[in-house]
Amino acid sequence: MGKTVDELQSEVDKRRTFAIISHPDAGKTTLTEKLLLFGGAIRLAGSVKARKASKHATSDWMEIEKQRGISVTSSVMQFDYKGHRINILDTPGHQDFSEDTYRTLTAADSAVMLIDVAKGVEAQTIKLFQVCAKRGIPIFTFINKLDREGRSPFDLMEEIEQVLGIRSVPMNWPIGSGRELSGVYDRMKNQVELFQGDDHSSIKVQKVEDYNDPVIREMAGEFLHDQLCQDLELLDVAGDPFDFEKVLKGELTPVFFGSAVNNFGVQTFLENFLQLAPKPEPRRSTAGLVQPTDEKFSGYVFKIQANMNPAHRDRIAFLRIVSGKFERGMSVKHIRIGKDIKLSQPQQFLAQDRDIVQEAYPGDIIGLFDPGIFRIGDSLSQSGDIQFDEMPTFSPELFAKVTVKNALKHKQFQKGIDQLTEEGTIQVFRTVSFDEMILGVVGQLQFEVFQYRMKAEYGVDVLLQRMPYQFARWLVDEKVDPSKFRINSTLVKDKKDNYVVLFENEYAMRTAVDKNPTAKFLETAP
Ligand code: GDP
Repeated sequence: MGKTVDELQSEVDKRRTFAIISHPDAGKTTLTEKLLLFGGAIRLAGSVKARKASKHATSDWMEIEKQRGISVTSSVMQFDYKGHRINILDTPGHQDFSEDTYRTLTAADSAVMLIDVAKGVEAQTIKLFQVCAKRGIPIFTFINKLDREGRSPFDLMEEIEQVLGIRSVPMNWPIGSGRELSGVYDRMKNQVELFQGDDHSSIKVQKVEDYNDPVIREMAGEFLHDQLCQDLELLDVAGDPFDFEKVLKGELTPVFFGSAVNNFGVQTFLENFLQLAPKPEPRRSTAGLVQPTDEKFSGYVFKIQANMNPAHRDRIAFLRIVSGKFERGMSVKHIRIGKDIKLSQPQQFLAQDRDIVQEAYPGDIIGLFDPGIFRIGDSLSQSGDIQFDEMPTFSPELFAKVTVKNALKHKQFQKGIDQLTEEGTIQVFRTVSFDEMILGVVGQLQFEVFQYRMKAEYGVDVLLQRMPYQFARWLVDEKVDPSKFRINSTLVKDKKDNYVVLFENEYAMRTAVDKNPTAKFLETAP
């Protein structure tokens, strides 16, 4: 027994599972590739490049992916680096992200926030950040494209605080910027990392006393050194000190500067990150916190991907392992249906070939073959009836009225809607006035996936008609009066018969809130 416990502990200790959050074009694909190269990726779910170069795509499981050249669903990549095993959860950086993107963040123990030095904090970064912040996970910031002209580091720190509400602590600091960039100063290790050669192809690392060290002056020149000293003095006086406890609570984000495409600052970032980022964290359940080192295996499904292989039309349920050791062929209890199931076909994905996993540990993600028995949020466990916390739902922002083209197919239509809502592909509402069906999603892509799957799996053509609503708020009130929600809004019910108000704009929403002081308007279902 002792040996097993030690083994489990050491496997847990070496793992780091994180997601990279950013706005499209900030450099996530580039950064991910560089990280994978350091470790020599051992397992890729799909391919990092797939969504960029569709002609080389290996993850074109769905027609939509082929047409649009993007990865519909988040994938998982695993690699080893200096004794660590690292799982990167890829969240699609495309505008067309979906609730899956958000749910994937529940499987991460920390996040890397990637920011373009010229663009600063952008829309999609804000959304993803907020989901992470709600969970209170540590967030590490990488400010990318330092080789380009960008905004001042102070300016960016200010923006991070103003827009995201998190304080930041620079771990390194640029020496010069844009075309004048000559390197960075590592504040923690007191060393300079300088570009070498005209093409910046190599990097020289030099230990120094502190930032005043004349060695830096010799290396970077008077002008840049003066600037560096000025900046760092200001930071020493006015900046936040590094506080590990605050980092772990998600109250302070360590900031790293670099350039992914030049592979500059990436390795330093990775090494610091591995040291500071949390190992697999416990998860809350009906039986209290489940620790990763609990010997009994457990995990939860955070995502289901349909039709990964059109020839088989099977589905893959992505499971985050919370505790214990996974071994191929093991039996575990599927809590919701109350049955034991055998995990005989767990897979990682190595490009097109499905790579069968023999064993895995807390923090790892495994794909389970799903003949239709899994739902998002399902818990699997070897130790009795524990159910992990329910998967959060997210407030939809795009809405469309849905109807069936051929009325004779109504039964299939209903079945498809029921199953796809159950699976978490879309949210469905019914208007109180005319009993019309309205779909709600967080990204346009979800509509397309819905339409595609209704046709492919249920043989039903659906018509989607976009509606002008932008916000959904769950209404909690003693007495609900539908007549109150007619101007730039409409009253609907969700599938559990909760009242929800859809608003066309913020003004309409604010007016409703003001006029109904006794009512509560919640972002998600109560
Ligand atoms: P993603 O959409 O976030 O995955 O972004 P990509 O990794 O595809 O990068 C978007 C563009 O920015 C590509 O043209 C990259 O070559 C470029 N890029 C990425 N990192 C850097 C960088 O450090 N400096 C510069 N100048 N360009 C970069």
